[in-house]
Amino acid sequence: MFAFDAINILGILSTAAIMILGLALFFKMERLKQTQELVKTLQRSLDEMDEQAKLIVRTDMELNKTQEELDKKVNGLYALQRLSRALSTTFEEEQIFQRIEADYLESLGFEHSLAFLWNEKEKKFALRMNIGYSEEEAGAILASVSANQGEYLELMSEGKTLSSLSLTDSGIKETIPKIFKTSFFVLCPLIPQEGGQGFFFVGTKKNDTVLTEGDEELITILTNHLGQALETARLFEKNWRAQQELEKKVELRTRELSLALEKVEVINRRKSDFISSVSHELRTPLTSIKGYASILLAGKLGEVPLPAKERLEKINRHSDELVTLVNDLLDIARIESGRVAMKKEQYNLREMTGKVLDILAVQLKERGIGFSQNIPSNITHIFADRPQMERVFINLINNAMKFTPANGKINVTACHTADKGIQIDITDTGSGIALEDQKKIFEEFYRVDNAINQQVKGTGLGLSLVKHIVEAHGGKIWVTSSPGCGATFSFTVPAA
Ligand code: ADP
Repeated sequence: MFAFDAINILGILSTAAIMILGLALFFKMERLKQTQELVKTLQRSLDEMDEQAKLIVRTDMELNKTQEELDKKVNGLYALQRLSRALSTTFEEEQIFQRIEADYLESLGFEHSLAFLWNEKEKKFALRMNIGYSEEEAGAILASVSANQGEYLELMSEGKTLSSLSLTDSGIKETIPKIFKTSFFVLCPLIPQEGGQGFFFVGTKKNDTVLTEGDEELITILTNHLGQALETARLFEKNWRAQQELEKKVELRTRELSLALEKVEVINRRKSDFISSVSHELRTPLTSIKGYASILLAGKLGEVPLPAKERLEKINRHSDELVTLVNDLLDIARIESGRVAMKKEQYNLREMTGKVLDILAVQLKERGIGFSQNIPSNITHIFADRPQMERVFINLINNAMKFTPANGKINVTACHTADKGIQIDITDTGSGIALEDQKKIFEEFYRVDNAINQQVKGTGLGLSLVKHIVEAHGGKIWVTSSPGCGATFSFTVPAA
């Protein structure tokens, strides 16, 4: 019984133990599962973290690269700015290329550079700048370029930039690294509009160089600046040369003119001297002719028959006219040569016009011509040579009278000029003067060739004498007129 119980108890106990063990195992298994889940989650987190770490490293690397590129661009822009400034400070083609210094190009990442210009006259390229190549190397490059100049010219005419980056399909692209001995390069057409063109080359031998589109753009901008500087220099040179030529021409013409003027002055002096001496020589016999004619007319040598008397009177009249002409000629010659000084004094203008009117009053009345004067009260005195100024007035009013029909009018007015002188206008209602004659009437012996003038006596010396007198006073004389509508002769004189 006891054994049975013991077996039962043992059985119960072992069952219980098995159950406990089973339970324990179950829990263990559960924990193991949980742990495995945890491990998996951890693994996933670790993977994610790894991915993120990789991303961070990649981003950092990219950031560094971008930073480097940015630094390079900023340096390049600085170099470009300095170069542009250097280029804009000169107008000489030779100096423009000297301004491109090696360290500027280094900042852009290139240690080799060449500039070629096309010579249209000689039909060949010339090397204008060399940085980083020996003379022999540069000479060899020039020879290669010249051998293929057709292709380079074509590239220039297309205006396209060629670089180790660009996809331009050009025959010379493949040969450039070999000819120019560089791994990376930019070759840019140089096109100043003012004649001539060429190209600008930059390159580097460094294999670690990373040539970007930005670099290509910077070199294109630099080449444009270079082209503009060349164009400005050429325009400047052209203008400068034109100015020099103009100056030379002006100098030559001035010399020619002053020589011609000297000659004219000599001729004029001779003419005045000649007129002076001829007039003098004429005056003496004329005075005798007139004297004898007067004696004969007076009957001092016996009774003169009527027909002879009439002839003698003609001789007398013509002698008077000749004396006037000779006197006018003499006066013009004297004033022209400066031998007559104007004795300027201050005198009353109205008084003088009154005197002139007294002299001409009879003739005015005879011809039925009205006379008026309009001199404002603020104009009283003028500063001139009195007898000479009287001649001016008499001549001008006399002319006005000659060309004004009966019932016409002559008016004298005066006003102040801007430079404090006095302008006098003598206006008539006569025949007037055609435009083409207006300048010529002041020349010696010029008389207008028309029907009216043929009926009017004159020598063509009056206005010339008047002009000389007015100019000897520092004044000016001119006429405004239109045929059939009268004329106004205006002249200026110094005020008191
Ligand atoms: P002339 O002795 O012939 O008058 P002038 O030198 O005084 O010489 O004048 C030159 C010419 O100018 C005259 O022949 C005349 O044709 C013209 N002339 C001058 N004054 C007048 C005037 N007031 N009206 C029209 N024609 C004039």
